Amino acid sequence: NAKLELSGISMSYSRGGRRHPALDGVSLRVNEGEFVTLIGPSGSGKSTLFRLIGGVERPDAGSIRFDGRDATGRRGLISYMPQQPSLFPWLSVEANISSALESAGIGKKEAAEQASGWLRRIGLGDAAREYPHVLSGGMQQRVSFLRALLMPRGVMCLDEPFAALDALTRADMQAWLLGIWEAERRSVLFVTHSIEEALTLSDRIYVLSPAPARVLSELTVPFSRP
Ligand code: ADP
Ligand code: ADP
Repeated sequence: NAKLELSGISMSYSRGGRRHPALDGVSLRVNEGEFVTLIGPSGSGKSTLFRLIGGVERPDAGSIRFDGRDATGRRGLISYMPQQPSLFPWLSVEANISSALESAGIGKKEAAEQASGWLRRIGLGDAAREYPHVLSGGMQQRVSFLRALLMPRGVMCLDEPFAALDALTRADMQAWLLGIWEAERRSVLFVTHSIEEALTLSDRIYVLSPAPARVLSELTVPFSRP
């Protein structure tokens, strides 16, 4: 039941005529409905890994499989939420969400209704008609997360989504993420620097080495979530 499986992924960048290895034989998997966290020092190659999984770059060696089929270099299989909220500034908050639903094949009118329902559920009903820039950072992250959640993609990839938030907003977002993840059971690949955050949120954790990244250890989180 592996949803996403990376086997022996290596990649280097060339800079100034020299090769700089970024990933050195990384193998990992995310099972259906599983919450997996990558933890590693900055510069260890986590964003590179996401670009490979997203099909934005190709590995020098190794393969990426999705639902058991080769998907190396294929796009459109994941939803990606970067560190900074990434919303379309020219669309209202509601339209940012309804456009994700439309790409799932839902009609315009129905998508708008569902979007406003989702925004009410996450406490942003009043912000539906606003444009992203007037929202606080935490609110934008919520909308950005909701967008990633509703994109009809196999795995949600979340790249340090809470790094820029203050401690209180972060705790609030973590609880909120877990609640929504438990209801929807999406396959998640999450990146953080915080071992505490990893332990709170994940089913399984991979620890990466400093660049070039290798998997140093894999652990199953032995207790259930709060
Ligand atoms: P992380 O997301 O864990 O901070 P990155 O994937 O951004 O790590 O970077 C891994 C390594 O690859 C670093 O040494 C970084 O300098 C290098 N790197 C990342 N992107 C590029 C690029 N576009 N060109 C050259 N080197 C890069
Ligand atoms: P779309 O938003 O319509 O999917 P994009 O061109 O933004 O189109 O992205 C194409 C694919 O690459 C998508 O699966 C997206 O999630 C993924 N993607 C885009 N940027 C990145 C990135 N920096 N890291 C990982 N995946 C990415």
